[in-house]
Amino acid sequence: ASGGMSDAAGRALETLRRVFGYDAFRPGQQEIIETVVSGGDALVLMPTGGGKSLCYQIPALVRRGTGIVISPLIALMQDQVDALRALGVRAGFLNSTQDFDERRVTEAQFVAGELDLLYLAPERLRVPATVELLDRGTISLFAIDEAHCVSQWGHDFRPDYLMLSGLHERWPDVPRIALTATATEATRAEIASRLGLEQARHFVASFDRPNIQYRIEPKTDAKRQLLHLLQTEHKGDAGIVYCLSRNSVEKHAEFLTQNGIEALPYHAGLDAQVRAANQARFLREDGLVIVATIAFGMGIDKPDVRFVAHLDLPKSVEGYYQETGRAGRDGLPSTAWLAYGLQDVVNLRKMIDGGEGDAAHRRRQSQHLDAMLALCEAVECRRVQLLNYFGQSGEPCGNCDTCLTPPETWDATVPAQMVLSTVVRLDRERRQKFGAGHIVDILLGKKNAKVIQFDHDSLKVFGIGTDLRDAEWRAVVRQLLAQGLVAVESNHGCLVLTDASGDVLRGERKVMMRREPERATARAAKAAK
Ligand code: ADP
Ligand code: ZN
Repeated sequence: ASGGMSDAAGRALETLRRVFGYDAFRPGQQEIIETVVSGGDALVLMPTGGGKSLCYQIPALVRRGTGIVISPLIALMQDQVDALRALGVRAGFLNSTQDFDERRVTEAQFVAGELDLLYLAPERLRVPATVELLDRGTISLFAIDEAHCVSQWGHDFRPDYLMLSGLHERWPDVPRIALTATATEATRAEIASRLGLEQARHFVASFDRPNIQYRIEPKTDAKRQLLHLLQTEHKGDAGIVYCLSRNSVEKHAEFLTQNGIEALPYHAGLDAQVRAANQARFLREDGLVIVATIAFGMGIDKPDVRFVAHLDLPKSVEGYYQETGRAGRDGLPSTAWLAYGLQDVVNLRKMIDGGEGDAAHRRRQSQHLDAMLALCEAVECRRVQLLNYFGQSGEPCGNCDTCLTPPETWDATVPAQMVLSTVVRLDRERRQKFGAGHIVDILLGKKNAKVIQFDHDSLKVFGIGTDLRDAEWRAVVRQLLAQGLVAVESNHGCLVLTDASGDVLRGERKVMMRREPERATARAAKAAK
């Protein structure tokens, strides 16, 4: 049975990536999907925007037959189906807005087994012909969206929703998944009893992990920053250090070991036996650090992971949340620490632009990165930001870095204009690789080889930025990237203007930035005591 379960997990993840283009599941999704894929019933409570749709869409794609989705949101069906079709999913709907011919085409497709998903308005089930139709095809699952409609607290669709309890009697072997964003205990109990889902697994997605202290700090010397964190706050603790590349995994595991911290590498390039052995030791022994690529962690359930450290920027908030979520499963205080720098942003942007997939896929990836950057540059509570991202609200936690050391903001309009004017001047030589570092050198008036070679010491902007230090300029450029006020050109990685840059250059838009706390780690640590 466990083999079947992990197979379900593998196929679910493969579908998430291939069809939907996402890299990681959101909280709860994976367990829910595995339950339904393996034929179990589920009752799902998740906030709006939390990602309920994938919980039935992926099982419908993985299982044989058509997933029947009961949804009262008739006005949205066309959009939902269009969006799925754009991803290559075979989807259709049946509701009262269609004419006879449209309905007949969809019905024929369903009977012929040509649909992965069929959306049905609840009132359709009142019609005996619909039930007869469903009998003629193969059904992979029933998804009951907006399941709180069965509740007594009055909804137009209540009578139709109450009829849904009959589905199970007629199709006892077809798994059912009921979903709602309405989170009260009472509503959940009523849904379970009305729909006969008492035996179903209940999933209440909670996105809040109050025992995790979220900290994100600018990367200056990642190795030293990590070592400082481990030596001052996590001596002898078990933890996970995530790196983007295999090479970086090896390097950092070695570095920690040399500095008296027992660390094991884990990445897909290692011999399978070594990998399994390292994982087993991490699970079994106390106080080991594992340095890993994101390949590590799927299905790892070690309760006492005291810290998760990221040395590179995750590609999405989903990934960040999932990876940091491996800390503190035992509920004890734990640290989620991330160091990120200008180069991270540049690298990820280049990876997205040069990566696989069509324009829509790249745009989605780019939006995910933007959300991650917004979290990094946030001036408010990190936890609140995370909760908001997943559609939940919260109060400032008093425990994250921004709560403990509220970042100051400053008016960076003038430095922003300096960077953008330099970008404009270099734009004419776009074939050359003038990255962020070169721009900072020009602003600081450094006569290095590259500056001299291209005669950039004769530019008007040469040396006009000596009020800020090198690190401060890098922070400015990084935040300009995060705010979408400059972009990275994909071929050579030069900085280029965006649509929004003009407003700044013309002085029509003020640019506020986060001031870097000098020693964020040390201060947060002190405050935490
Ligand atoms: P809900 O039905 O719970 O309100 P949706 O299913 O519409 O939420 O999902 C909200 C948004 O989150 C959608 O844009 C969806 O594509 C996105 N989303 C869902 N799951 C993931 C994931 N694992 N990774 C990235 N984005 C996701
Ligand atoms: Zn906070």
